[in-house]
Amino acid sequence: MAFELPSLSYGYNELEPHIDAKTMEIHHSKHHNGYTNNLNNAIADTPLADLSIEEILNGLDLNNKAVRNNGGGFYNHCLFWKTMSPNGGGLPEGVLLNAIDNEFGTFENFKTEFSKVAATQFGSGWAWLCANKGGSVEVCSTANQDNPLMPGISCSGTPILGIDVWEHAYYLNYQNRRPDYINAFFNVINWEKVTSLYNEVK
Ligand code: MN
Repeated sequence: MAFELPSLSYGYNELEPHIDAKTMEIHHSKHHNGYTNNLNNAIADTPLADLSIEEILNGLDLNNKAVRNNGGGFYNHCLFWKTMSPNGGGLPEGVLLNAIDNEFGTFENFKTEFSKVAATQFGSGWAWLCANKGGSVEVCSTANQDNPLMPGISCSGTPILGIDVWEHAYYLNYQNRRPDYINAFFNVINWEKVTSLYNEVK
């Protein structure tokens, strides 16, 4: 049972001006498609082929570079597309806002911390908002296509929001201005979806 590239629930141009259509098209149809195909090739005819992507990542042997890079790439981008929306932005409501306030004091403090972690991830990687059983939230970052579900990563919990800070995610429109891209990302966050992911974890 091979993994499939998910289709997006919005058009490539619908996150403009925050994320441009060309970047979205290449990112989804080339980069994410590549991770998906390479993951399928890496797990074909192995016991991993019978597992969910979460099971594969939870039990990952970090020395298995093909599955680490492409399994991470497959999962990370699936989450990324789902947690953005043309109608995004603003603040979460209810339980998630409470959890953010409990951890960071205010939503603005959270935004500052998340943005700092995303901006200072050296080279390629991701910044995450993770939820823990019990309801607490935390911010962290990982290199390359690693993510908090993998064992032995200095980042725990279940990711409910992630920003891709690989240059392929922003370079066409923002060049070296990663902080501007991070700031723009906040205008497309689908907090309704992030909240439903939070409710599944807590
Ligand atoms: Mn990417």
